Amino acid sequence: MKQLHYDVVVIGGGPAGMAAALKAKEKGATVAIIERNEELGGILNQCIHSGFGLSYFKQELTGPEYAELFINQVIAAGIDVYLETMVIDLSRDRQVKAMNQAGMLLLCAGAIVLAMGCRERTRGAIKIPGSRPAGVLTAGLAQRYVNIENRKPGERIVILGSGDIGLIMARRLTLEGMEVLGVYELMPYANGLYRNIKNCLDDFDIPLHLSTTVTNIIGHPHLEAIEVAKVDENFKVIEDSREVIACDTLLLSIGLIPENELSQKSGVSLNPRTNGPLVNEALETDQPGIFACGNVLHVHDLVDNVTLEAEAAGAAAATYALQQKAEAAVGEKRLAENKYSIPLVAGENVGYTVPAKLTSPTQKAGRILFRVRKPLENAAVIIQSGEKTIFQGKPRAFKPSVMEAVQLSPDQINELTAMCDQNSGGQPIIVAVQEVNQ
Ligand SMILES: Cc1cc2nc3c(=O)[nH]c(=O)nc-3n(C[C@H](O)[C@H](O)[C@H](O)COP(=O)(O)OP(=O)(O)OC[C@H]3O[C@@H](n4cnc5c(N)ncnc54)[C@H](O)[C@@H]3O)c2cc1C
Repeated sequence: MKQLHYDVVVIGGGPAGMAAALKAKEKGATVAIIERNEELGGILNQCIHSGFGLSYFKQELTGPEYAELFINQVIAAGIDVYLETMVIDLSRDRQVKAMNQAGMLLLCAGAIVLAMGCRERTRGAIKIPGSRPAGVLTAGLAQRYVNIENRKPGERIVILGSGDIGLIMARRLTLEGMEVLGVYELMPYANGLYRNIKNCLDDFDIPLHLSTTVTNIIGHPHLEAIEVAKVDENFKVIEDSREVIACDTLLLSIGLIPENELSQKSGVSLNPRTNGPLVNEALETDQPGIFACGNVLHVHDLVDNVTLEAEAAGAAAATYALQQKAEAAVGEKRLAENKYSIPLVAGENVGYTVPAKLTSPTQKAGRILFRVRKPLENAAVIIQSGEKTIFQGKPRAFKPSVMEAVQLSPDQINELTAMCDQNSGGQPIIVAVQEVNQ
């Protein structure tokens, strides 16, 4: 088996992998990106709509345009890129086994960045009853058919789930001459970004049915109809609301699952709420030298946030690898890992936080990302440890579809660092969003 050595190996060549690799290279590390597809860019290559890069590049780009800006930098930086190469195994000691047409590769890395993205939930995940006809597919697959393979998924389309991919596809299929009969959403609120509800549904008169789900799939061998029904506040089907809708295609936009099978092989622990690795403030998992970023860590709303997060992970991975190399060169034995961590806990109305812990000594990164569990009209972020308030935000509205970021000031970071250094793990830091009475 061909054996190669790099300071940093990045698994996945989407926007997260490319940004992480560029930062690691900038820090002086030798870097390789391994990507199973025939080109870099990840999911961006099929997202031909605009709306990317508004905050990172301060301009509105399509997915492929956003990807191209990074691909050009990766080439210019001389980063080694292995395309059409699939990583099949990752060990705790950072050995990466990959496979391509030339055979097997073994890449030994000082640090790893996990950037494998996520996959879509399918029908099996929500157990829709009925027959198993052709014509039931995920929204992302339909996007690939239309935007990359020039294929038409059907004529009369129903979409289940109001996440951004479903909304984008409602508009895309309408523009391509298909009839989108409606978007159905189990929750009493839409799951996608407000701008996508407006631009993709309202502007095309596509109805959005809230508190409604698909209760049966009818047809064989091809989809002929679906049954939908309203649900009550406990998500129980309201029997007399059942309705059959004739259609030939059902698109599922019912969520994304981070791709962490490889991470688990290396012993990385996952957060059961996000299915992504539990990381500290340097985006390092609980396996030393293995870092994570992008959709493999938690599902992002905007690619701009993916890029920022990946740059932090790439920089931290390079620092880790170069430090280890320097210590090895002078024959010093790395100090025993005398680390302890303070958990960052998702408090009232918060689904999860990234990072999930601060590890001593902290890396002084002061960005805390989280999502709320339900829409809140007037609420404020509050970060506390015991009786002490570290951060208090201004009252405003929150939506679960929007990823929230709190950037702590240098003083607040120093305060947390001091707590982390003194506190051997007792007092957690709680991130909450509390409703404010008007
Ligand atoms: C339909 C849709 C619409 C979107 N619209 C917007 C928008 O309007 N604006 C916006 O800002 N964002 C949007 N996004 C979000 C944005 O595209 C994602 O957040 C971003 O692409 C995630 O980047 P990533 O690198 O983490 O994952 P990905 O882009 O999924 O890249 C992961 C890469 O890892 C590779 N990989 C996985 N496993 C392996 C393995 N074992 N070996 C080798 N390679 C592997 C995959 O092939 C893939 O290329 C949209 C996303 C979708 C799906």
